Amino acid sequence: MKTSSQSDCSNIGQKTSDFCCIIVAAGGGSRFGGELPKQFQPFLGETVLSYTLRSVLRSPKCSECILVTAPGMIEDIQRLVAQFVVSDRSRVTVVSGGSERADSVRNGLISLQGSKTEIVLIHDAARPGLDEATIERLLDALQHHDGAAPALPVVDALKKQEPDSISSVDRTDLFRIQTPQAFKRSSLEGLYGGNHSGALDDFELAQAAGLNLTLVAGSETLSKITYPEDLVRLERLLSDTTIFEYRMGSGYDVHAFEDGSHVTLCGVEIPHTRALKGHSDADVAWHAITDALLGAISDGDIGDHFPPSDPQWKGAPSSVFLKFAADRVAAMGGRIVNIDVTLICEEPKIKPHRDPMRKSTCELLDLHPHQVSIKATTTEGLGFEGRREGIAAQAIVSVALPIRNASATD
Ligand code: MG
Repeated sequence: MKTSSQSDCSNIGQKTSDFCCIIVAAGGGSRFGGELPKQFQPFLGETVLSYTLRSVLRSPKCSECILVTAPGMIEDIQRLVAQFVVSDRSRVTVVSGGSERADSVRNGLISLQGSKTEIVLIHDAARPGLDEATIERLLDALQHHDGAAPALPVVDALKKQEPDSISSVDRTDLFRIQTPQAFKRSSLEGLYGGNHSGALDDFELAQAAGLNLTLVAGSETLSKITYPEDLVRLERLLSDTTIFEYRMGSGYDVHAFEDGSHVTLCGVEIPHTRALKGHSDADVAWHAITDALLGAISDGDIGDHFPPSDPQWKGAPSSVFLKFAADRVAAMGGRIVNIDVTLICEEPKIKPHRDPMRKSTCELLDLHPHQVSIKATTTEGLGFEGRREGIAAQAIVSVALPIRNASATD
């Protein structure tokens, strides 16, 4: 994750079908009420904003995502991104917004300077239900238009209340406009420089500038969260489309001591009078976690993927094995929920090194510290651990895997 000053756009793709997305999250959401701004409200096990962000990042065509927020919220949003965006964090940049929506979008566009992406999507943080089909419709529409927005036809009867009467309004050709609204980047130049007060959204500004615009089919899941009841309704709608199953995995490993000056546990070199013997760096803790992750997705064990007989793994850092297992989880659309490791040994003492070991594991796997637990115990002098012949580690992990997407067309 980058702040605006760190943005170098070096990872921006070259393809014209790629897009950048500006997510506007600067509003206070006064109509929602409550102590927390609505983008920080709990939503399907995370928050509204992180859910929205991940829905955009899920598209492989998204080359960069700019989160525009109020200056006082930048640290909160960076923490939230670190907590919930497991991978692809390098595609996220957080910048400060302005007093009006158009000011915030302008700041987002400024942070894109240097990007080669020709298409910009502008999205509301309070619309978490974006799917890839809508993104594809918007990108298709830009082949023949300067801008496009998702929209739903008005289906309820419309009435206009006047001082002395109520009249009917013809709803034919009336639509509810949603976001993300997609634009050719070149067409946005100059759009946010003038007086934009009163403009409801970017589409309205584009209309006023005479751009060639069109509407594409929107979705009920893209409805905006304005009031608490909207949040409850969307949670129900979206939890019906993606169902996760929670899988457990366990791993166990042992390495014997040999002559040496340190042991490596969770990627941390711990000074000791002995070393752990092994084909790789003998990181018994990360080996146990690797096996637990592979177990959770029924994908064999560490020896299947990295045979000890293969010379290329001699002396290899165990980060290679653990990252491989985490990538296999991610490739299935899954995410690690939590990891709990217990080291079993009389020596060295684990407790003084526990925090660096947690930190190292979190950094490797893009996890938050609350998702990783590292504990240690002795065997009261019994067994090989008690005789100080080696170290054992056992790990238990939980992994969330998507098992059904009811909105999928296949
Ligand atoms: Mg091992």
